[in-house]
Amino acid sequence: MAQILKGAEVVKALNEQIVADSKALKERGVEPTLAVVRVGQRGDDISYENGAIKRAQELGVAVRSVVLPDNSTTALLVETLEDLNANPGVHGVLMFRPLPKHIDEDLVRNTLVPQKDIDGITDLSLAGVFANTATGFAPCTAQACMEILRHYGFELRGRKAVVVGRSLVIGKPVAMLLLAEHATVTLAHSQTVDLPEVVSEADLVIACVGRAQMINADYLAPGQVVIDVGINVSEDGALVGDVATQEAEAIVEAVTPVPGGVGTVTTSVLFKHVVQAATRLPGA
Ligand code: NAP
Repeated sequence: MAQILKGAEVVKALNEQIVADSKALKERGVEPTLAVVRVGQRGDDISYENGAIKRAQELGVAVRSVVLPDNSTTALLVETLEDLNANPGVHGVLMFRPLPKHIDEDLVRNTLVPQKDIDGITDLSLAGVFANTATGFAPCTAQACMEILRHYGFELRGRKAVVVGRSLVIGKPVAMLLLAEHATVTLAHSQTVDLPEVVSEADLVIACVGRAQMINADYLAPGQVVIDVGINVSEDGALVGDVATQEAEAIVEAVTPVPGGVGTVTTSVLFKHVVQAATRLPGA
């Protein structure tokens, strides 16, 4: 049976480091602070925000909520982000998306300076991921995959990795992060020919395809490490990943569960980035 790579263990280790780093920052007079920008009153945004506030308190990170009305203009959002860019007391900014349709989301997201872009939403942050420089931050979910692999001690150098999915949020950045760790990376997508064969030849599989349990026994091979990024609701209403976990468990060496895998680690990565952003400040 495969090893189950539980997110909770990774979260515990990350959180201990975040608490220690935020304590050290406070001793130097810097209170690491996250601003959360929310437009409107969407229930899932509010519940994520409440969860983040609770987690932040446990980690010693301050949170400021900036709530704007549904009918906010692009200009108001740009102005709000410019204020947060200029505010030395704010180190990271999380903006809930998608924004309402009448707002120019590309203009708004690229207003944020990459130094405060702790969820990797700006083109400059993504350029930093591609150039392997600390310009901004990688998207948290992509980084969460790397934290899991690092925590469980999987060597990436020289290994064959297949990333299934090429979105800007996960697939492309995680491929670049794996490349930076010297893996040999294949980026697969909906037009990839013979996908089961391509996936079965990898040592490491990152499934970020957005299709419930698509990566099943036909795609998997003994010895593989499988990171399941997917969050889908199955026909019977259960939360499932992009990997058919039970089939995977009988074949591969290790696999992340859903729920309790990548998603669990993502919020800790967000706060790790806030503390890193505060630490990168000149004089901090
Ligand atoms: P997305 O933007 O829809 O991208 C999906 C990617 O999968 C696309 O590149 C698409 O290829 C590819 N794809 C779709 N069907 C395919 C098929 N049959 N064969 C091969 N490739 C196929 O999704 P996303 O935003 O990257 O999210 C991916 C998954 O991660 C979703 O389940 C989402 O819910 C989950 N997610 C998890 C977290 C977390 O914290 N764990 C956070 C965000 C998202 P093309 O480019 O060719 O269309």
